Amino acid sequence: MKRILITGGAGFLGSHLCERLLNEGNEVLCVDNLFTGRKSNIHHLLDNKNFEFLRHDVTFPLFVEVDEIYNLACPASPVHYQFDPVQTTKTSVIGAINMLGLAKRLKIKILQASTSEVYGDPEVHPQPESYKGSVSTTGIRACYDEGKRCAETLFFDYHRQHKVAIKVMRIFNTYGPRMHPNDGRVVSNFIVQALKGQDITIFGDGRQTRSFCYVDDNIEGMCRLMNSRDGFTGPVNIGNPGEFTMLELAQLVIEMTGSKSQLKFLPLPQDDPMQRKPVIDLAKKELDWEPKIDLRSGLVKTIDYFDKLLKG
Ligand code: NAD
Ligand code: UDP
Ligand code: UDP
Repeated sequence: MKRILITGGAGFLGSHLCERLLNEGNEVLCVDNLFTGRKSNIHHLLDNKNFEFLRHDVTFPLFVEVDEIYNLACPASPVHYQFDPVQTTKTSVIGAINMLGLAKRLKIKILQASTSEVYGDPEVHPQPESYKGSVSTTGIRACYDEGKRCAETLFFDYHRQHKVAIKVMRIFNTYGPRMHPNDGRVVSNFIVQALKGQDITIFGDGRQTRSFCYVDDNIEGMCRLMNSRDGFTGPVNIGNPGEFTMLELAQLVIEMTGSKSQLKFLPLPQDDPMQRKPVIDLAKKELDWEPKIDLRSGLVKTIDYFDKLLKG
């Protein structure tokens, strides 16, 4: 049994990770300031004697005794990370420094939830880990993209300078139950709009692409990365290479919900990437990992979740 710290543990991905690591018999310390996370995501875990929740902001130092750290704290939806952009950069950068300081003092392994956003609006398609990215330093997404890029830099410098054992995961768009209904990300937006019979909001002409990974596949990849061979640091892409336009996603959601919603076209936000698709050869080779759940199967479970949530 290990004592595992999960920052951002009350969020979408974090709550699934808490559940998984508890089921494996570990003790979990969930640290979250509840900016985008919710107590309802972890409510069912509060009675578990191996689970502890601590309301704390990772931009402040944290002194606890644990065996492993998963650093997920950071708002992930553009709407939320652009709400207080200065705090977003602080969370990624100062949060990384504090968690790396903790890992250094305790001589323990730490995993960083990085992102495909480090590739920006990519000119190379699909994106391998070796691609260095095309990121604006001044646009409205920079608080998130550059914060996450700087966090990766800190991880690799703590590794080289202080011998901290690091694992860096570049997560591509991931969806599933426990996304916040007002999260603003495309999968939750389209499903909630379709279920409510509201217009489906397509930004731009809807021909931009994303590759969507179901949450269970993501968590499997994350745990495999944490337990990968000593010396394997990543960065490693974890995502589903199936690539869809936003128009295709909208049509699929309308078909699967049987909704009468109409498409409504709105302006494309600044710096919105036109294409995104992971190369996952490294994850296959090092982690023996590949996604198992295709978009349609993942949407069935996600639509079911939002349907119950909206009716409840
Ligand atoms: P989320 O917003 O649901 O979860 C983030 C959690 O971090 C929330 O519970 C929030 O309250 C918490 N948090 C934010 N700032 C904090 C702070 N200063 N101190 C403590 N807690 C703080 O988002 P998610 O989708 O679960 O994302 C989790 C991680 O994975 C994030 O780091 C995100 O950047 C990364 N990621 C996610 C995706 C995706 O598609 N879901 C893609 C790429 C990267
Ligand atoms: N830190 C922390 N918990 C710890 C150890 C360190 O939060 O258990 C923080 C500490 O406050 C510092 C940061 O991590 O601001 C970086 O620590 P490091 O030891 O690398 O740097 P230093 O303390 O020398 O500035
Ligand atoms: N998007 C959209 N309608 C929405 C929300 C998002 O068309 O209601 C588009 C958005 O412009 C982007 C894509 O869907 O091109 C994915 O957006 P999301 O915010 O989910 O993730 P990210 O842009 O960070 O990949």
